[in-house]
Amino acid sequence: MLTNINETYNDPKKLANDYVHEVYELIKKRNPGETEFLQATREIFDSLRPVFVKNPHYIEDGILERITEPDRIITFRVAWEDDQGKVHVNRGYRVQFNSELGPYKGGIRFHPSVNLSIMKFLAFEQIFKNSLTGQPIGAGKGGSDFDPKDKSEREIMRFIQSFMTEMQKYLGPDLDVPAGDIGVGRREVGYMAGQYNRIRGGFQPGVFTGKDPNYGGSLGRREATGYGTVYFTQEMLKTNGMSFEGKKVIVSGSGNVSTYAMEKAIELGATVIACSDSSGYIYDENGINVETIKRIKEIENDRIKVYRKYHSSAKFIEGCQGIWTIPCDIVIPCATQNELDEDDATLLIRNGVKAIAEGANMPCTQEAIDLFLENDILFAPAKAANAGGVAVSAMEMSQNSMRLSWTFEEVDEKLQLVMKDIYDNCLQAAEEYGYPGNLIVGANIAGFLKVANSMVSHGIR
Ligand code: NAP
Repeated sequence: MLTNINETYNDPKKLANDYVHEVYELIKKRNPGETEFLQATREIFDSLRPVFVKNPHYIEDGILERITEPDRIITFRVAWEDDQGKVHVNRGYRVQFNSELGPYKGGIRFHPSVNLSIMKFLAFEQIFKNSLTGQPIGAGKGGSDFDPKDKSEREIMRFIQSFMTEMQKYLGPDLDVPAGDIGVGRREVGYMAGQYNRIRGGFQPGVFTGKDPNYGGSLGRREATGYGTVYFTQEMLKTNGMSFEGKKVIVSGSGNVSTYAMEKAIELGATVIACSDSSGYIYDENGINVETIKRIKEIENDRIKVYRKYHSSAKFIEGCQGIWTIPCDIVIPCATQNELDEDDATLLIRNGVKAIAEGANMPCTQEAIDLFLENDILFAPAKAANAGGVAVSAMEMSQNSMRLSWTFEEVDEKLQLVMKDIYDNCLQAAEEYGYPGNLIVGANIAGFLKVANSMVSHGIR
């Protein structure tokens, strides 16, 4: 790819910089308008320069050019009928990005904002995250611009049956194993697995993770992403002489990741003072009651606003962005990409925040991250901090293959070990490549090396 590779070979730094720059320009040209995908690649590229200085053979093998181009992208029409018999058409996606380490693995998202750029950024991030878990899993992501929010349960089921009728062609236990993400929980995974079994015949336990434990789901999977984020944060705090004990914590969102991040942070002695959904946030200085959140979100399927019905001491404020104006010690953004920007970061820093841990994927903008780092705020990046969910998904795949199930305690113990390993590996990579304590650089490098080495082993393809 590099035009002047021979000239610059004597200057490894220049060679690495030129290479990263040229490949990024190429990607920009090849993926116009894919803002989120370009944002995600940019962040990784910035971290990888020192890797190419030390390992110029990756340049000769064109690793960056190849790792940024998905193995394949599948898009398809999803036509379905609502309860009134009206026909609707949505678009389905599966981005099978990288299978160097194992079958494609990554969630399915149902949200009106879903587009190709968002699918590609999520699948690209998944490469490094899945590598960090140490488990044999490749990377993918999928979903649809279908909005489950205003739909009946039967409409959701019919939509999923149509979605899976096409997508099943590309899935399999050794090929591609999806799970949940925004708008897709146990119920939706159940409908997907049901339709897959109906079309392919028999009972196929290893094609989805995040299933109900009644039919092959792993205990502890529902809790894994939120708990894992808190376990990772706990390690980061410990290294810096802190803990969750007595800290005021803000967790955005009130879905799967947020709920279990709140639960674990509270168990470790923190007070969670605010959480949100896309309509607004609730704030209670005395602490949010997670059991009430579970009741509202998992059973009643209602809005966060109704929390006040159960706890009159809490305030509900319309608009979710105001949550970052509340002074606190630790912030765990668990809702969606780019939910915390430069202005939010400025306010949080002014109000004395000590640590940020990304539970959602890419919730902080690059400008916000730069501010946190400049101000020495501890920062746990998503691809490391929220890897607990996919790590337990890989454990679910193992249990399905072995036809057995581990107890909740066994899974939770393994999860804690995985999160500690990820933290240690990030710290070590950051140190080794000259950025001590920088977990962003550490996560990107540690995740990259394993995949890059497998790409070298597998040859140019
Ligand atoms: P979820 O269960 O659907 O929950 C998402 C929550 O975020 C909902 O409460 C939603 O509220 C809220 N939300 C959406 N946009 C918001 C905004 N702008 N401000 C405040 N709240 C907002 O999804 P999830 O599975 O928890 O996923 C959340 C994030 O974690 C995503 O970035 C996902 O990719 C990432 N993640 C998930 C997993 C996993 O295992 N599930 C693993 C790794 C990473 P409404 O209901 O009002 O939309």
